[in-house]
Amino acid sequence: MPEARIALEYENELQLLVAVMLSAQATDAVVNTVTPELFAKYRTAEDYARARLPELEKAIRRIGLFRGKARNLHAAMQRIAREHGGKLPRTREELYRLPGVGWKTAGVVVNHAFGTPALPVDTHVGRVSRRLGLTRQEDPDKVEAELSALLPPERWGRAHQLLIWHGRRTCIARKPHCSRCVVAADCPKVGVKISD
Ligand code: SF4
Repeated sequence: MPEARIALEYENELQLLVAVMLSAQATDAVVNTVTPELFAKYRTAEDYARARLPELEKAIRRIGLFRGKARNLHAAMQRIAREHGGKLPRTREELYRLPGVGWKTAGVVVNHAFGTPALPVDTHVGRVSRRLGLTRQEDPDKVEAELSALLPPERWGRAHQLLIWHGRRTCIARKPHCSRCVVAADCPKVGVKISD
């Protein structure tokens, strides 16, 4: 899957953080329909920090859970403006301390923005890894720890992307396409009851 890459559209690291925050429990496609206008209006952390909350809510209202996301975005940007001089913090730990930024989101951002090795675990990465027998863990942080131990750090980011794409296209949640899966011969299909 040489074409496997992050599907969110962004032009700088701040936009990446915003897009990833908005994508929680929403499709990347929906986020991509909202962000061009949002990014044109709010260019810096200070722009977001100065905005009134109802304005931000209105700008992202087509995305699920928009009220909570607007609140988190506002608070995170205020923190970035106040404590980081308007620049995106460069470590996963610092990003994780921002309001509304989980460990997975922080991992996606440092990996794509700064090339920092990370193997964040979303629903696809977790499901595919369990079916492949690479982990038995359900907790995303524990899955990440076990997967990370299997690969050298320079391959973590690529593994994250490949597992997502495989989960979206072939090893789908309900009825995985095992008959046309390129790793079927090596897969114990843990927990798979029905496939095609
Ligand atoms: S063989 Fe089936 S369960 Fe295993 S990775 Fe492929 S699609 Fe998923």
